[in-house]
Amino acid sequence: MRLELKDIKRGWLEQAYSCSLSDFPELIELAVEDGPEFSEPLAFQLRFQQTGKFVTVDGHFDAVVRLKCGRCLQRFEQILSESFALTFVPELKKCETEEEVELEVDDMSLIAYKDDILELQEPLQEQLLMSVPMNPVCSISCQGLCPECGLNLNREKCDCVKKPFNNKFTALADMNFRES
Ligand SMILES: [Zn+2]
Ligand SMILES: [Zn+2]
Repeated sequence: MRLELKDIKRGWLEQAYSCSLSDFPELIELAVEDGPEFSEPLAFQLRFQQTGKFVTVDGHFDAVVRLKCGRCLQRFEQILSESFALTFVPELKKCETEEEVELEVDDMSLIAYKDDILELQEPLQEQLLMSVPMNPVCSISCQGLCPECGLNLNREKCDCVKKPFNNKFTALADMNFRES
């Protein structure tokens, strides 16, 4: 998951990468921790453009991820198809001023490279992680779980919601009846 600058001939290069989960250890960790599960392959298309020592990357990926619905807790598959842009800049040498180094570190959209090698693994992994929805829902019409009995209301109906109201109402009615 790296590219040597000399492979960018005549200033640009278009590359397709078909990656496996073993290329992105953090994705495996997520799945182990009951988080999102990415499927293989993870397909990237990257277009590198070099201007002097700067390399911009226009990227796109398609991936399938299994998520847990925040309402009904069932797993469902979602297709992720995202575009992104990265800029690689040469790492500043120690002899250059500290101020310049700080500027570079603070700017998150820039990725430093050294020895004329672009390391792609971390930035691509980051793009995958950022594309995962924060509050996944299997469908906008998902009914979720019954807060009383835990039944999946997408599949079955229960009358928990009505019962407490009815019970109270009949209890009150009984009281009134006894008082009169
Ligand atoms: Zn759901
Ligand atoms: Zn219920």
